Amino acid sequence: MDFELTEDQRRIRAVAREFAEAELGDRIAPYDERHEFPHEIVKKLGPLGFMGALVDPDYGGAGLDHVSYALIVEELNRGDASVGITMWAHNSLCTGHIALAASRAQKLRYLPPLASGAVLGAWGLTEPGSGSDAAALRTRAEERGDAWVLNGSKAFITNASVAGTAVVMARTDPEKRSRGISAFIVEKGMPGFSAGTPYRKLGLHASDTAELIFEDARVPGANLLGGRGQGFVDAMQVLEGGRIAMAAMAVGIAQAALDRSVEYMKQRTAFGRTLAEFNGLQGMIADLATEIEAARLLTLRAACLKDSGRPAMHAAAMAKVFASEVAMKAATKAVQIHGGAGYVTEFPVERIFRDAKLTEIGEGTSEIQRLVIAREILNLP
Ligand SMILES: Cc1cc2nc3c(=O)[nH]c(=O)nc-3n(C[C@H](O)[C@H](O)[C@H](O)COP(=O)(O)OP(=O)(O)OC[C@H]3O[C@@H](n4cnc5c(N)ncnc54)[C@H](O)[C@@H]3O)c2cc1C
Repeated sequence: MDFELTEDQRRIRAVAREFAEAELGDRIAPYDERHEFPHEIVKKLGPLGFMGALVDPDYGGAGLDHVSYALIVEELNRGDASVGITMWAHNSLCTGHIALAASRAQKLRYLPPLASGAVLGAWGLTEPGSGSDAAALRTRAEERGDAWVLNGSKAFITNASVAGTAVVMARTDPEKRSRGISAFIVEKGMPGFSAGTPYRKLGLHASDTAELIFEDARVPGANLLGGRGQGFVDAMQVLEGGRIAMAAMAVGIAQAALDRSVEYMKQRTAFGRTLAEFNGLQGMIADLATEIEAARLLTLRAACLKDSGRPAMHAAAMAKVFASEVAMKAATKAVQIHGGAGYVTEFPVERIFRDAKLTEIGEGTSEIQRLVIAREILNLP
């Protein structure tokens, strides 16, 4: 067992940290306030190789391992979770699904612009009527001549209105449940395909979340991804990697909450002493630092499993449920440590607190992660 990162992994983490310190953090606060997508900052992720982190170099990607990718996700989210989730949905979901299931021709067409960051990606599984029970989705895809015609909508989709390419799951065989679902690559501008107005959210204000809408949307036959009836099976594999990355996202958010609390405790005084000198607060910091390290280790272990090609669903669920709950706890404690300052928008922990909650919901709620873990332990289907 080796807990050391390789030199390359340490270097990649340093690049991500440097970027996050220079470009994210407090610089994102105005975008968050305006609920504005930070196009110019997201554009800078491409040249760093972050938008094609896991993509094969043959298709213009950086060809990194999952551990390196988890380190990048952690550092970007430590800087800002809106930019972090943008990069996560692009890589783990949309690009990840294409890299997993596409034909060579589809890869040649779609991966290079995604990997360079020239085009942003979105991924639509959730619908207004189905989230946790994803196999109940109702968007229909009917084969007509050499095209597929899609009708329905997807809800809560990250990058929906800023993406040029999206992967969406739709029902091709209504009589079958999960085996009746197929995946399609859709492009902005295809007739009948549009995005809704972005939602006003609790947190992640500088990220884009909207509906994807299909009204007799015509998708070329060549854009079926991974074979008819294969969409749900592939989506579950995409979620495995996505959950590891969302665990890394949670670790980054938790670390940001801790960093800001430590800074504040060193400069804020009460009763003639800095907050850092109070035992009660020291205990909070010690507990948080310990739990964040445990969350990080679970996350990197799951990423290691993925890199070795072994099944990682169970480890991914454990990492995701633990790390997201640590993120929420760290954010709650950070607000507490800041007192009144933690409750107002001038201090970053207010934003971190709002952003952290998503990690317990997105990519499968905490309840669903516990279901996945328990099913394996109890050997249930
Ligand atoms: C900001 C944001 C970004 C998102 N990005 C994307 C995206 O890019 N692509 C995408 O496809 N989706 C995305 N989602 C959707 C997200 O994955 C779903 O919201 C999530 O899976 C939960 O589904 P739901 O909202 O339908 O809740 P529901 O499934 O309705 O769940 C409601 C409650 O019931 C609980 N519950 C449900 N089933 C069970 C069960 N069997 N046992 C115990 N409890 C249960 C849940 O845990 C939850 O507490 C995003 C959501 C948000 C908020």
